[in-house]
Amino acid sequence: MLHRFKTPLIIIFVSVISIFTGMKVLSYFTHSDLPEINIYGLQKDGYYSNTVECSLVSDNSYKIDNVNIFLDGKELNVPGLNKIGKKSFKLPFTIETKDLKNGKHCLDIQVVDASYNKNKNEESFDFYVDNTPLKAAFLQQEYKVEQGRTIHAKIQSNKKLANTEIQFLEKTYKFYPESEFSKTYECFIPLDCEQKPGEYMLNVDVQDFVKNKIKLTGKVSIKEANFPKQKGFSVAQGKLEEEKEISMSNKILEEALEKWLEDSPDKKLWSGNFELPIDVKRVSTPFGEIRTSAEKGRYLHKAVDVLNYPRSIVWASQDGRVIIKDRFLLTGNTVVVDHGIGIFTMYCHLEDFADIEVGDIVKKGNPLGRLGMTGYANGYHLHWELRVNNVAVDPFQWTKRTF
Ligand SMILES: [Zn+2]
Repeated sequence: MLHRFKTPLIIIFVSVISIFTGMKVLSYFTHSDLPEINIYGLQKDGYYSNTVECSLVSDNSYKIDNVNIFLDGKELNVPGLNKIGKKSFKLPFTIETKDLKNGKHCLDIQVVDASYNKNKNEESFDFYVDNTPLKAAFLQQEYKVEQGRTIHAKIQSNKKLANTEIQFLEKTYKFYPESEFSKTYECFIPLDCEQKPGEYMLNVDVQDFVKNKIKLTGKVSIKEANFPKQKGFSVAQGKLEEEKEISMSNKILEEALEKWLEDSPDKKLWSGNFELPIDVKRVSTPFGEIRTSAEKGRYLHKAVDVLNYPRSIVWASQDGRVIIKDRFLLTGNTVVVDHGIGIFTMYCHLEDFADIEVGDIVKKGNPLGRLGMTGYANGYHLHWELRVNNVAVDPFQWTKRTF
């Protein structure tokens, strides 16, 4: 009985083997996919110190013959490179950065498969070695500042920093390099005019690109500013009613400024001093003046009111980008310029606007509008405000010295 089936079974068996072998042979000659290269433990343009544990992971449809790894053009001695013999493999290797100079290096990976075409994929990974111990210190460790002023904190480091933040009064502020390649980092910290006088700590976390960390502490003593008092400020009721018809609430302005603060560029758009936006004939309301009005109750005037002729030109006090150009109930026709790293200047009660749009880059001295009395104003003046991280500070401090 059995031998009757034997012959067809052999034929099937031989055919299957032949088809299988044929496909294998075909695949050997026709395979053209490039082998995969995935590197774990090393990122392109990343910074590294000490020993870097890496692995090459490759998952392919044809078996791999050999791998070559070059570090700065020299072959890296890794066992098992020349006899992979598998489609998928994981090849661990280490880079001892202690043997390398600080700076830029290049890792080259070549993976060749075992097909007739010897398909070869190659990839380069630039990376940086940094084995220098981190140094960082405050240029000035103690700051004596009045309410409503800006603290200009600076630290110096021996290298480029990845992230440096300062904690002050439960808020965090970022340090930025003074210029593109500078190792001096600066930070602007606003002191609200109502911040209680006293001694406060500055805590800084400095971190480089290879995760070395240093903690620095500084001190701030806030002195009372003795802001002047003003009584009986009022704006005619009829005027406010008229303004309500044509203006948006200032709550909308504040919300927009919070949003714009998140988008403020990570670098200064300015250099040098901030200039007065008008030729100041008189300061009608100084910064921080304590006011009492029927509409707003008791409040501090966190800006300066400056006077020139009605409808005279109001200029941008520094380079920046226009982020607000609109009419609001209290501030009237308002322009806000973002100077980068969270520094805004505001120009309020304008008669009208110059030929500017939101998003425009303006230069110091470009016209923004004309001096007016729109909004909550009882005479022609410019309400000029400077904000650091959305806290209004004395703008005259910024015109008297270079930040
Ligand atoms: Zn004002």
